[in-house]
Amino acid sequence: MQNVTPMLRQYLEIKKSYPGTILFFRLGDFYEMFQEDAIIGSRELQITLTARQKDTENPIPMCGVPHHAAAGYVARLVRKGYRVAICEQSEPAVKGTKLVKREVVRVISPGTAIDEQISDQGEPLFLASISVKNDIVGAAFLDLSTGEFFATQAEGADAWSTISGHFERFGPKEILVESEHQATAHKYLLLQEIRRADSPGELDPSVVLTSDSGSPFTAFDFSGSEALDNILTGHFGVLELSGFGLAGRDAAIAAAAMCLEYVKTTQRSAVKHITEIGYFETNEFLVLDGVTLSNLEVLKGRSEGKDRTLLSIIDEAITGMGSRLLRAWVLRPSIKRSEIQTRQSAVAELSDAILRAKLRHLLKGVSDLERLVGRLNLGTMSPRDLLALERSIAQAPEINAQLRDASSLLLQVLSENIFELPEIRDLISRSIADEPPAILADGGFIRKGFNAELDEFREIAGSVKAVIASFEDSERKRTGIPTLKVRFNNVFGYYIEVSKAQAHKAPEDYERRQTLTNAERYTTPQLKEWESKVLGAEEKIIALERDLLAEVIEKVRSETKRLQSTARALATLDALAALAETAARRNYVRPILHDGDEIEIVKSRHPVVEASLGDRFVPNDIYLNNSTDRLAIVTGANMGGKSTILRQIALIQILAQMGSFVPAMSARLPIVDRIWTRVGASDDLASGRSTFMVEMTETAAILHNATARSLVLLDEIGRGTSTFDGLSIAWAVAEYLHNSSDHSAKTVFATHYHELTELANELPGATNYQMAASERDGDVVFLHRLEKGQSSKSYGIAVAKLAGLPVSVIERAKEVLQRLEQYELAVFANEKATGVAAAGTRSAAAQVSLFAMSNERAIDEIRQTDIEALSLEESQALLRNIKGKIV
Ligand code: ATP
Repeated sequence: MQNVTPMLRQYLEIKKSYPGTILFFRLGDFYEMFQEDAIIGSRELQITLTARQKDTENPIPMCGVPHHAAAGYVARLVRKGYRVAICEQSEPAVKGTKLVKREVVRVISPGTAIDEQISDQGEPLFLASISVKNDIVGAAFLDLSTGEFFATQAEGADAWSTISGHFERFGPKEILVESEHQATAHKYLLLQEIRRADSPGELDPSVVLTSDSGSPFTAFDFSGSEALDNILTGHFGVLELSGFGLAGRDAAIAAAAMCLEYVKTTQRSAVKHITEIGYFETNEFLVLDGVTLSNLEVLKGRSEGKDRTLLSIIDEAITGMGSRLLRAWVLRPSIKRSEIQTRQSAVAELSDAILRAKLRHLLKGVSDLERLVGRLNLGTMSPRDLLALERSIAQAPEINAQLRDASSLLLQVLSENIFELPEIRDLISRSIADEPPAILADGGFIRKGFNAELDEFREIAGSVKAVIASFEDSERKRTGIPTLKVRFNNVFGYYIEVSKAQAHKAPEDYERRQTLTNAERYTTPQLKEWESKVLGAEEKIIALERDLLAEVIEKVRSETKRLQSTARALATLDALAALAETAARRNYVRPILHDGDEIEIVKSRHPVVEASLGDRFVPNDIYLNNSTDRLAIVTGANMGGKSTILRQIALIQILAQMGSFVPAMSARLPIVDRIWTRVGASDDLASGRSTFMVEMTETAAILHNATARSLVLLDEIGRGTSTFDGLSIAWAVAEYLHNSSDHSAKTVFATHYHELTELANELPGATNYQMAASERDGDVVFLHRLEKGQSSKSYGIAVAKLAGLPVSVIERAKEVLQRLEQYELAVFANEKATGVAAAGTRSAAAQVSLFAMSNERAIDEIRQTDIEALSLEESQALLRNIKGKIV
């Protein structure tokens, strides 16, 4: 520190207060990075690394980016997971004076990067926090760009998995953890983070755990903050937190306070657009965990056609905020019938093509008002943003006029919440120029006629400039130098330039200012006088324009609440109109939601598969209830459409509960509390768990947590192990879900274990279905029709042939299959010979044939028998029975 210049000392001091960030240090027209930051910056941004104090023993690595292009560079760093602290000069640099003051004006991190260049319009931008208080886990989620703010907490054995579930749905870009809980939070959330990464392995766990950069976690130190309750009550201006449902929920309060403190300090803003916080718990919406979202391809496709997802099909929204709302609805469908039906009625009313077209046309003039209100309160509002805001609210009167006669309650409420704000519109139209420049320093963004003083200064500057322009002409004539030029630069101001060859013609009154190789530069007293007039006026213009802009912004900001209400109402209108648009384009119907337990869908279609197959998609009827039809076992050929029908049921249920219409001819649906899915044989290599382990962990979660109001979809579970192990597990799982008193959920089970169809004979609530297929000349023909009954074959070899396996392999597979089938028949015959099949039912015999492992069962039975308590006949019967079971 001793040998460094005062400027570097200032740098080092500021740097110390912002650990874990890359400091963009403003020096004139550049942001410079030094030391370690410079090394990272030059590497990540591919800019040249130079050094300061090059010739000394300790040169200081340095690199820089021009300030007008800084946003792009910051965006690149933040996207890579870095946090960037922007340090500005906080007083104007005056020639020759000592060091100018500098301070950090904003820290931009992945969770606070509200800038358009970094954030995606259709995606929310959540910052999250975790706090643990007395074993209760609290979490908060804040979208700084719009001010949306939520908190929750959970306790008990499932606390962490509940919280993880919320993280999967909110998808935060950055997670704050109290320093002391960092390790625990890492442990539980790391897994989810890795899952969310676009492709497995993209996020290297070691990076997440050890390095500051690239990590979604930010350690947060609370010491020095005020009491947690006070942070929230102070911000919201309330006496207590019960109005937000937060009273007594200390973990949630702590998490929320953490988010709020963090954004206030990093943004150096009062964040007044965060006007409320919503407390929620898991049982308040239809729960879809990360696995289910991914299995059902709700937001992200799994294989080819990655962009074809449920959301992409229904996202017909015009505005970014409409898209974000649809995403929120699809991730957290409602379980409140009244709420769902209110949305349905609005969608139904918007099915009027003329009304919808008019509204959607008007919405085209609406910008991302939610985020504009965010910028308004975060000090990053530009004149162009003000115009966008004005144009957006200018649509309000016409939109309200369209909604005036609406009969649905929701549309009426929306209209009441869309404010027309004529004074704000008028203020912006009067004050802001039509095409304001992007860079504020240039001025010129305040409209002529808005402020008399400004107009006067502009007049002066303009007329003097005109005089100077004519001065060039008159001087050429006076001196006889035709190449004489009058020019301006930032260092010397206005000057007269004459080439060396002509310099001898310069008149007496020319004062030399600078000598160049080929030219001489002069000034005159007259020019100096004009210059000081122009510069004085321009300085005043710029200062005045800034002040006027700040005043306008302040007035607009005072309407934050009404602007926010308008933004949210317009977003909702956009989302509802999008659902109506989808329904009309894709021929969806309004589902009937009832309080019973039946799922009855006539001619249902898979929304995404249908979108690519069009008319070739074969619709299917579905019926499930909690008594006679609570377990549907679906068998059928490979590629027959089993997985499709399974997902179709779930997607229709999700659409219905978000308030959308559904792809079917008619649908009667109950309200479901949770959809569980387990799809066999999907890898989770990134987290280092084997396929089978993943499958079993997820199955365990279903068996422990499903309720009678849940919908469980199991696609080929038990595949990741040996056939008999897998079959046994699949059998027991199906039986459990059917029989359990607490966890008997409506279950659809797609399987290639044809043996499972025996369950339908044993369990009163089980029904067999098959995806019909037929064979013609050794080739399989898929009918994609769901029929009652069981399929006898998987047509695996036929499908393998379609896939192009070599003929010799296909022929050999047929031989092996034949032998295996013969073996199974032999076993079956053997059982018959023992007389068990004759004495027992057909299903008992079949079961024995299935379970070559049933010897173990027989041994178990002996173990569990109290031999002393058996009579002679009972012992003999038992022995006979056991003998029959041994294969
Ligand atoms: P596997 O047992 O091999 O996993 P599967 O029975 O689960 O196969 P799906 O993956 O559901 O079969 O469907 C295979 C393909 O069949 C789909 O990609 C789709 O193109 C087509 N398909 C499925 N259902 C239908 C339908 N109802 N109408 C028309 N085509 C369909």
